Amino acid sequence: MPLHLRGTVLPDGVVRDLWTLGDRITFERPSAPADTVADGGFLLPGLVDVHTHPGAAAGDDPVFDPEVFAEQIAEHRDAGVTALRFPGLLGEIPDELREAPGSPRMITAGRWLAWAGLSRSAGFHTVTDDLVAAAVAEAKAHDGWCKLMGDWDFEAPPVPYELLRAVVDGVHAAGGRVAAHCQSAEGVLGAARAGVDSIEHGMGMPQECVGLMAGHGTSYVPTLTAFAQSAPLRAKDNARGRLWHEGHRTMIRRVQEAYDAGVTVLAGTDSAPHGNVAVEVEHLIGAGLPPEAAVGAASWTARAFLGLPLLAEGALADITVYDTDPREDAGVLRHPRRVVLRGRIIR
Ligand SMILES: [Zn+2]
Repeated sequence: MPLHLRGTVLPDGVVRDLWTLGDRITFERPSAPADTVADGGFLLPGLVDVHTHPGAAAGDDPVFDPEVFAEQIAEHRDAGVTALRFPGLLGEIPDELREAPGSPRMITAGRWLAWAGLSRSAGFHTVTDDLVAAAVAEAKAHDGWCKLMGDWDFEAPPVPYELLRAVVDGVHAAGGRVAAHCQSAEGVLGAARAGVDSIEHGMGMPQECVGLMAGHGTSYVPTLTAFAQSAPLRAKDNARGRLWHEGHRTMIRRVQEAYDAGVTVLAGTDSAPHGNVAVEVEHLIGAGLPPEAAVGAASWTARAFLGLPLLAEGALADITVYDTDPREDAGVLRHPRRVVLRGRIIR
């Protein structure tokens, strides 16, 4: 039976009736009787977490566990997350989970690629001498994205600019996109100059990166939730700890500057518990993003970034419903009244 929902459709802000026909949305009343599952409230095309890594088995070894993966994407889904991007996964998603009725839409980027000159130690890195070939292969093998470590160890220099540039050129020539992990001023600057498609974290970002990102069309995923969680654990009485805190303060400033410069800022959590992207929205607002932009960063703007439709005629049937307007009260995102995914009621 088609589902019928009526409410204020965001981001347009127009009150509409919409129906589901299987995994599609229509604004035209179907001939078959429909089950009204929402009447009133605010309708989003679901939430999106563009930086999360579900599926890591418990323990010291970085191993992919399909059961853990299934549990953690279910946590996202139950929180109203209808689409996920994984900038780094420890393994391949089982086919049966990809298109399962209860699975959010998933955009993968393969593994965390690390140039051999950068990393020899981190267990979750896939270390390679030929970063360009590996990046192109990952983007082709997955959903058009690859993920690479732009830097890693605080004491080691980041990936050389020329190499990073070759990766970007190679992946773009293959029709793919590059997500770059950066956590040092030098690392962010190199990634911004090279024109990667998304900068992840961006700790300590130099001011000139804002203009570079705007010029290249690079998106910014600061993952403020993860940094806010680890801030209390970082020392303040040694040089490295102070560098960390200064880098954290700087990245928070850059979030608003980037937004003001026209950079697409997106919500990613990078952290447990899974399904907490509503918290990232609150951090983005705290960093100075207008609330509407912060909600969009975890919903319609992120879906557009991933190539997924919004609430439109013929679009995918992903819908979340909230009692109040999240643009005025982002806290309501923690409490979806309804979650519809692939045309089926989740809650
Ligand atoms: Zn991450």
